[in-house]
Amino acid sequence: MHKTSINDSPRIGGEGGEQRFFADSMLGKLARWMRTLGFDVEYEKDIDDAALVKRAVREGRIILTRDTLLIRRRRIKGWYVFIESDSIGEQLRQISAIYGTGFERFLTRCLRCNSLLEDAPRSGIEDKVPPYVYNTQEKFMRCPHCARIYWAGTHRKKMLKALSSLLGRDADKG
Ligand SMILES: [Zn+2]
Repeated sequence: MHKTSINDSPRIGGEGGEQRFFADSMLGKLARWMRTLGFDVEYEKDIDDAALVKRAVREGRIILTRDTLLIRRRRIKGWYVFIESDSIGEQLRQISAIYGTGFERFLTRCLRCNSLLEDAPRSGIEDKVPPYVYNTQEKFMRCPHCARIYWAGTHRKKMLKALSSLLGRDADKG
């Protein structure tokens, strides 16, 4: 079994450049939680191995996979991280040990489509969120790709708490 460590973890692009990822079809949950942390992670539920590898290589993305066959058959040496566990908590801890998770990019990305969120002026979204939310929240973010609106609030707090517990540490200790 391929074992990742800090030293042999793949990095594509320059030092300090943001790493981009492509999660295989078994890792939808990991992809979503990584997006929550601000990682750039593509994921497509029904993509086949050949298409996944082609896109990952073309876009400079590190493949996240639990599929040893994919690794062997597609010869993706140096372009992947073998995700060792089935447990989402351990998966996130493996990623965080390699690439870090400072929580500083928490909820900067659309969970649905992976695009970076933009500030959304209050004036443009009154009819797009429930009135209670509009009246009680100050700051809104919007996905430029799928138009989903995000705001601070209890959902955000719950996610932060869930992430902290999955990662086994407090978010504020980064
Ligand atoms: Zn989106």
